[in-house]
Amino acid sequence: MLSLIGELSKLPGIGTKSASRLAFYIISMPKDKVDQLAKAIVEAKENIRYCEKCCTVTDDVLCPICKDDRREKNLIMVVEDSRDMAAYEKTGEYRGVYHILNGAISPLMGVGPNDIKVKELLSRIKNEKIDEIILATNPNIEGEATAMYISKLTKPLGVKTTRIAHGVPVGGDLEYVDEVTLSRALQGRMEI
Ligand SMILES: [Zn+2]
Repeated sequence: MLSLIGELSKLPGIGTKSASRLAFYIISMPKDKVDQLAKAIVEAKENIRYCEKCCTVTDDVLCPICKDDRREKNLIMVVEDSRDMAAYEKTGEYRGVYHILNGAISPLMGVGPNDIKVKELLSRIKNEKIDEIILATNPNIEGEATAMYISKLTKPLGVKTTRIAHGVPVGGDLEYVDEVTLSRALQGRMEI
């Protein structure tokens, strides 16, 4: 019971109080409902699928954006996760495609370049006709370190590499930035 509360309280937005409320609710549920819940959690994780091109979480071989012929395939915006992609999609201004790293380099958290989808990005640059890589990782320490790391690898490949402008608050999380600010950050991007 204590370990259930402990695990639940690690979830985003769940404090100790909510965790213990959920835990008490779960132990009061019929056994088969608890099994269903546990199974659904494990299955969601096991069946997770990444788009073969951009690595976003999807349920098909290619995500709807990579499948869309109207998107400019020579322009790749690199973001940390699928929620950042959704934030840029909401601006309605970006016509290129994305690459989702599924994380950012963070020595403190033990996340290195091999733990995120950098290799996959490099192989896209080598195999597709890419004119520009827009680094739109979050403007915090991890996001900046990740952008620098990637630019060191992409520039020798001869591909123009840009970083979104500030205007996105430093230390901020792209997911929570309003659409106007995101559009301005995109328009004001600079080559690095
Ligand atoms: Zn995709």
